[in-house]
Amino acid sequence: MEEDSVASWKHHGKAKVSFHVATINKPQEEFKILVDNANKPFDHVFLERSEDGLRFIHPLEKLSVVDFVDQNLIERKPVKPLPLEETPFKIVEDVKDLKELAATLQSVEEFAVDLEHNQYRSFQGLTCLMQISTRTEDYIVDTFKLWDHIGPYLRELFKDPKKKKVMHGADRDIIWLQRDFGIYVCNLFDTGQASRVLKLERKSLEFLLKHYCGVAANKEYQNADWRIRPLPDVMTRYAREDTHYLLYIYDVMQIDLHIMAKENEQSDSPLIEVYKRSYDVCMQLYEKELLTGDSYLHVHGVQTGHLNAVQLAIIAGLCEWRDQIARADDESTGYVLPNKTLIDIAKDMPINVGQLRRLLKSKHPYIERNFDAVISVIRRAMQNAAAFEPVVQSLKDWRPGTVEKNIKPMIEKPGTEFTAYTKKRKFESELSNKAKEVVKVSKSKPDNVIVLDDYDDTDEQSWERGDASNRALEMPSKGSMTQVPHTSSTEIVVIEDDDESENDSESREDEDMIRRSEKHRRFMSLKRGFLNI
Ligand code: AMP
Ligand code: ZN
Ligand code: MN
Repeated sequence: MEEDSVASWKHHGKAKVSFHVATINKPQEEFKILVDNANKPFDHVFLERSEDGLRFIHPLEKLSVVDFVDQNLIERKPVKPLPLEETPFKIVEDVKDLKELAATLQSVEEFAVDLEHNQYRSFQGLTCLMQISTRTEDYIVDTFKLWDHIGPYLRELFKDPKKKKVMHGADRDIIWLQRDFGIYVCNLFDTGQASRVLKLERKSLEFLLKHYCGVAANKEYQNADWRIRPLPDVMTRYAREDTHYLLYIYDVMQIDLHIMAKENEQSDSPLIEVYKRSYDVCMQLYEKELLTGDSYLHVHGVQTGHLNAVQLAIIAGLCEWRDQIARADDESTGYVLPNKTLIDIAKDMPINVGQLRRLLKSKHPYIERNFDAVISVIRRAMQNAAAFEPVVQSLKDWRPGTVEKNIKPMIEKPGTEFTAYTKKRKFESELSNKAKEVVKVSKSKPDNVIVLDDYDDTDEQSWERGDASNRALEMPSKGSMTQVPHTSSTEIVVIEDDDESENDSESREDEDMIRRSEKHRRFMSLKRGFLNI
């Protein structure tokens, strides 16, 4: 790969690195990386469970941080690393290399680790590289090529309490190792935590490299698209630099922490403090992102956006739509539909493809491929808007710390199925013929809600196509949803009060939507295990 395609755009003469190279084949597909995006909690299969079965037990729980402190500290001198150019380096990309790396790590007392990661083109995130440095060698493990082998070869080494692992700001790395490789770390020295205890003026690795090693690191590649293969030389160098100096920095920091203890006439407590903090970093457990009835409230800007019930309903609907696609296609929700666009759409309330198209300011491949489905979600959401009135009220009454408490009662109980408006009518009329309350929402004035009692809907034919199978595929029943409960007899009719009549295009769009969701369902059924539907 030539450097130009990595440094894809230039700004003020300085090359910037693209965080997304759209032409890369998805490694999940190319390397058959299996991920379980089902809307169910992550199962830490490599951890023991507590006796009651309710809790996972991290191997660290049976260990004490005091055991991690180097007893021969005073006799040790910092070991300066060789320059990068003179250090043996290996890209680990087949099982034989990995086996050799494992044997090397078996023979050393400590090693430095870092990961590069991509969160834009997968639902849960994907580890792209694992950098490891010993005192004498640098390694970069191509995690895509060796995905299923990394755990079996490296798990015990990471867990071994006698082997020191040095990482910088390891919070996320710890979680990624668990999620992608079932690796749980014991005996970590986190140089980021050490820089806090030492009260250094800055805590970044960039600063530590300058401060301790006199190295000016090029941090431009931190946010690059690390899925790129073959790895360009500049990115290889960057990735190596992230671990190459870490063991030396660890040596010096340990001594500085020891000096700090003596100056303060304490024991080794600052050093123990670093191990305590590093212990806490390791004890964190990965949790999968789950869609619940109030997920939409956590979209940035929703709670403070002064949104009305229709707008909140649209946000909730689109959150479900993008969540379903993102899980099935293993994309981030932000790639399927960015938060900013999500809120822009909700604020604008487009009810046809033309209006939606005019609203979009940049390229959105998923929306463009699913215009009709998006419009359909918006229309259905608008009809469900009354259910969001209490949420609007709660947000108005909001005081810090009380939003969860206020909103919870409005959220449906888990397992309640989402039912599309057009389908629901038949469903309900089949089950009961009880009179309905109709809420009319004016599109231009969505806060004006007119409630009509005992609305007779028997002449409504719009539910014609609604059978049970369509209802089920419309939205998966995965946890609590935000729609009107089945037991509710409230119907919401959106009053078209602009000039354009949408009647013709509406039925065409609905048909399109059904066709597409049918296609999507078939697609998803090929990818078993993704969605629990
Ligand atoms: P690092 O620990 O600095 O090597 O970063 C590990 C990974 O975190 C990178 O591969 C990126 O995916 C992500 N990352 C780090 N810094 C940033 C940033 N400033 N913006 C976005 N992603 C970042
Ligand atoms: Zn890192
Ligand atoms: Mn890194």
